[in-house]
Amino acid sequence: MDTQPNSPEARDIRYNLHAYTNARRHQEAGPLIIEKGEGIYVEDNSGKRYIEAMAGLWSVAVGFSEQRLVDAATKQMSKLPYYHSFTHKSHSPLIDLAEKLVQMAPVPMSKAFFTNSGSEANDTAMKMIWYRSNALGQPQRKKIISRQRGYHGVTIASASLTGLPNNQISFDLPIANVLHTASPHYWREARPGETEEQFSTRLAEELEKLILAEGPETVAAFIGEPVMGAGGVVVPPAGYWEKIQAVLKKYDILLIADEVICGFGRTGEMFGSQTYGLQPDIMVMSKQLSSSYLPISALLINDKVFEPLADESNRIGTFGHGFTAGGHPVAAAVALENLRLIEERDLVGNAREVGAYMQQRLRELSSHELVGEVRGIGLIAAIELVADKATKAPWGQPGALGALTNGLLQQNGVISRNMGDALAFCPPLIITRAQVDEIISALKTSLDEAL
Ligand code: PLP
Repeated sequence: MDTQPNSPEARDIRYNLHAYTNARRHQEAGPLIIEKGEGIYVEDNSGKRYIEAMAGLWSVAVGFSEQRLVDAATKQMSKLPYYHSFTHKSHSPLIDLAEKLVQMAPVPMSKAFFTNSGSEANDTAMKMIWYRSNALGQPQRKKIISRQRGYHGVTIASASLTGLPNNQISFDLPIANVLHTASPHYWREARPGETEEQFSTRLAEELEKLILAEGPETVAAFIGEPVMGAGGVVVPPAGYWEKIQAVLKKYDILLIADEVICGFGRTGEMFGSQTYGLQPDIMVMSKQLSSSYLPISALLINDKVFEPLADESNRIGTFGHGFTAGGHPVAAAVALENLRLIEERDLVGNAREVGAYMQQRLRELSSHELVGEVRGIGLIAAIELVADKATKAPWGQPGALGALTNGLLQQNGVISRNMGDALAFCPPLIITRAQVDEIISALKTSLDEAL
């Protein structure tokens, strides 16, 4: 690290409080400063190149140098750099993107609503659910069930939905009306001898017990990622979504699919809901929607949500919710062009085909002494490290995994992220087989060096 007083590193330490970072340790460790991107690669300020095996934060589908997105942004910026959608106003990118998303939805959806981040979108989903319950004359129906290890964001409501301790400890969360049920982490949480189907059945029974204990008339919705991302890339076990949805249907509980990571090809279908047969009432999307070149997120809602919401807004006089930059024209124009690219280049097909190859190559590491489980689907995967394969004892001391990802693997030219005991891989959807081989070779070397 450059420790000169006016180096970018020193100024970063001096002026930035970093997201998801130990603020004290950052003063010694310092930043990795990324200067530019090309395809699936990024380059730091010393000229060292890395494969961005997380696509940034699970988001850059088309890679880091897509000129067509730059052109789409420039064109829209010159024509209409800003407008909004409050009080009957609209603009073309907002209309085009809403139409496109409603048409792309794998289940009948009625309307799109635009926000700027996954967290804001999930906050909005929660507010829509509460508003709807009031509209239906069911003011007691406000509880939302989420899952341990689920990740839904960091605002007060979305961090409450998130089921990870670091997002709640010392933040005085979760808020009321949020309940958590078990995570579908089969490898870590199944009982000895339990099959995937049996584990899924047990989780559905536990969910039903929770609903009955709370009173079904108080439970409004269930939220879940088709595949959990930040909770450690937890792939649902056989039968899971089918059994969970049967319980929700029985008690007329809405389903919110958080597609913020899975959406737009990640699992080898356009949406994770298709891969796992989800029939959501609300879909939440962001990240790969614009490849994160600009911030934008969206909710799709069906008539079951829209109709009562429309009635309530009519009774009150307005749907009193919206963000200044929601559906920003430049971000929407970039999102539209990004979706065109995903379709034209069949990046969903690539996620399926090269994804299957990545899954197979990662599974070759299963026999490595440090590897407990390899899991994933399409172009999202994790390897969970253990100190002891038989007992599944987590590997190393707290922080050891961070040292592996931010240390060895990074030195070997690959940027990954560790989620608890799992190392995640979620590369841009444009990745090739040869580039997957590069990741595997750096990973093998790093695991051997970590022994
Ligand atoms: N939902 C999921 C599934 C996510 O993975 C994330 C972010 O990683 C969010 C919501 C929150 O999105 P944002 O960081 O844009 O607020």
